[in-house]
Formats: sequence, C-alpha cells, structure tokens
Amino acid sequence: MRRPRESYDVAVIGAGIIGCATAYYLASRGLSVAVFDRSYITSGATGRCPGGIRQQWSTEDHVRLAMKSVEIYKNLDQELGVETGYRQGGYLILAKTEREVKDFERNMRMQRSLGLPVRWLEPGEIREIVPELDVEGIGALGAAWNPTDGYADPFKVTFGYARAAERLGAEIFTFTGVERVIVEDGQARGVKTSRGVVRAEWVVNAAGAWSRLVAETAGVSLPNKPYRHEILVTEPVKPFLRPMVISFHDNVYFRQSSRGGIIGGWGDPNEKPGYNFESSPRFLITMARLLAKYIPPLRGVRVVRQWAGLYDVTPDARQITGPVRGVEGFIQVNGFSGHGFMMGPATAHLVAQFIAGEPLDLPLEPFSPDRFERGAFEGETAVVG
Ligand SMILES: Cc1cc2nc3c(=O)[nH]c(=O)nc-3n(C[C@H](O)[C@H](O)[C@H](O)COP(=O)(O)OP(=O)(O)OC[C@H]3O[C@@H](n4cnc5c(N)ncnc54)[C@H](O)[C@@H]3O)c2cc1C
Repeated sequence: MRRPRESYDVAVIGAGIIGCATAYYLASRGLSVAVFDRSYITSGATGRCPGGIRQQWSTEDHVRLAMKSVEIYKNLDQELGVETGYRQGGYLILAKTEREVKDFERNMRMQRSLGLPVRWLEPGEIREIVPELDVEGIGALGAAWNPTDGYADPFKVTFGYARAAERLGAEIFTFTGVERVIVEDGQARGVKTSRGVVRAEWVVNAAGAWSRLVAETAGVSLPNKPYRHEILVTEPVKPFLRPMVISFHDNVYFRQSSRGGIIGGWGDPNEKPGYNFESSPRFLITMARLLAKYIPPLRGVRVVRQWAGLYDVTPDARQITGPVRGVEGFIQVNGFSGHGFMMGPATAHLVAQFIAGEPLDLPLEPFSPDRFERGAFEGETAVVG
C-alpha cells in the first residue's frame, strides 16, 4: 500500500470537486500537495449532484464567483485534457408569486450590471424555450432566463482535476481518513491520517458536510450543518429539454441528462439536519408528481433510480472560504450548500492564489469564516433549500 511522504507544502482533506480542484491549482503553482479522502474520489456530495452551473444569484459576490467559474468551465476540457460534458443550455427560473417577480427584477438588474445576459420571459416566451412545460397549470407568471448557465458531469470534472493534479505531482490517497488536524503553537502543522502523521505548512479543510467535524479536531468551531437532499433520474426519453428548470417556490429543479433521463431534486422543507442518506418514498412521490405537473408528457415515464446526498449548509447559505482566527495555515473551503459544484473551480483557484501569496482574482472576505461572529453577512435567497 502506497504511503504518504513525511511532509508536503499542503495537506488537503477531502477529494470532492473542491479538494481535487484545489490540489490541481496548487500543484500547477509548483507546491507539493497530498489529498486525503477516507473514501473514494466523488464519494461525497460531488458524486451525488446533477452538475448544475448557475450564475443567477441574489448576492453580487455569488454572481461574480459563478461567472468566474463559467470562464473556467468554458476552457476546462482543453485545460485538463478531458471531455467534461460542459454545456450551456441555460437556466429557466420560474416566478410563481408577485413577490418573486419583484425579487427577480431586482436580482436581474444587479446581475445585468455585472455583465450577465439574463432577461425576463413572459409565459408565452417560456413556451418558446420549453414547449412541453405546462406554464398555466403550474401558475408561472414568468421566468428569469440566462442562456449562459448550464451543467457539466461532476465525475468527469472531478476526476479530470484529480488526474491533472497527479500529473503535476500531487498525490491523492483514497481510503485514508484524517483523524485530526495537528496544531502546534497556534499553527496548523499537518494531519494525523489512518496511514500515519503527515506534516504540512498548510491544511485545507475541503471535507464537505464533514468539515465541521474536521475543524473541531483543531479546536475550530464552524456553524455548518448537514442536510439530506434527495434526487432521482427517470428512464431515458427523447431529447426535448435543454435548460435546467427551477422553481424556488416549489423548491424543485430538473434537467435532461445527456443519456436522456430527467434528473432532478426537491428540497423537503421539513428535513432535519443530520447524516441521513436514506431514500424516502415521500421524496419519490412528491418529485414524481411535480415532474408530471410541470411536464405532463412525462406522466407514465419510469423512475429508474433515486439517491440522497448532503448539503453542507451555513447560516447565510454562502460558503466559508479562507483562513480562521486562532489556527494559522488552516484554510476552510466548505459550507457550499447546493452550489459547490458551480462555485468550485473559481473558489479552488482563489484558494490556491491565496496560499501561493498571489494577488486574488476576487476578494475572499465576503466568504470569511469569522463573518458569523461579526454578524456581518447578507443571506443568499436564490436557493433550492
Ligand atoms: C442532491 C444534490 C444536488 C446538488 N446539486 C448541485 C448542483 O446542481 N450544482 C452545484 O453546484 N452543486 C450542487 N450540489 C452541491 C454540491 O454537490 C456540493 O456543494 C459539492 O459537491 C461540494 O463538494 P466538496 O468537495 O466540498 O464536498 P464533497 O464532494 O462532499 O467531498 C468531501 C469529501 O471529504 C471526505 N471526507 C470527509 N471527512 C473526511 C476525513 N475526516 N478524512 C478524509 N476525508 C474526509 C468525504 O469522503 C468526501 O469525499 C448538490 C448536492 C446534492 C447532495
């Protein structure tokens, strides 16, 4: 069994999109990197998500970050030498109440001011984009439409980053748990893993929904809570749906995969925090009914699989990124709720810039871990919770 070296510049905990992308950007800067995952690459939320990439957010920092990720996604196949399945099919975000219409108008003004080509669609225009959508039946008053949103394959993207990082010298140790972060004199010095102690100048906590537990081993308290989020896929049907369709009001989203199946999720408002991976009949029934209501021709189409993953949720539904007070060199990159796949590439790039001491493309302060203590945060509202 391969053993880690005694020391690296950076130890990364977690081999989801965040850990693997961070390893890649660090290794491409000449830093020595070891990634540890107690399971396999993509075993966490990354391998359970449908890969949606949206830039329509209610807070400016999120829009900027998502736009930066899209710049990266556009060239990622070439950069990593893989076919990531990245497509810009657009996101159609349906408004079902007057309140939503007003909120969307405000958000769209802000998004356009940042250069996003988002526009309002009247019901008739929605039908032009998705003729099968029962716009009247679901009571849609209109929709926010951004044609440059899209999706990619989470497995291909994450393994693409992982293999490219390895080609640059990074080492990825799967089935290697991190038992604790080693802290000496207020400085992170490495990690104690199931394969022994590894020294490192920097420790990156990219453990997704388990990040809070990892942080605790260094005496750092994070406010993140894990919430189950369920999802399903149907048997393949003839291609008809290019965009991701979302309703915040119904807490639902769905798109058509490249194999033809409709893949989508519904957020149960009664979900309690916890490490729950069970698949529930309640989700199956609610989601199937929603799909049949939104797209009546889908009635009778069979569901072939349902599964569950965890959202790593912070009090403002915005990620935690950056150093923590009290433990130098311990960098948090977690708390991504339902948007770590889309924010991942840009965030990982920023973290690598930060560790390498380079000027940052975007500021990290809005995502600073200590914003909760300061009470200085603005909640993201454009979410499927
Ligand atoms: C159903 C669902 C739908 C989603 N839809 C979208 C979407 O459309 N678009 C989007 O952008 N995001 C979406 N998300 C969110 C997205 O999947 C996550 O935000 C993202 O994958 C988080 O990546 P990560 O690398 O931080 O965490 P993860 O992928 O969870 O990786 C964390 C890794 O850390 C490892 N780990 C944990 N503890 C330890 C330890 N002590 N030692 C070693 N390793 C450890 C785990 O094994 C795991 O592999 C969705 C999530 C779910 C569940």
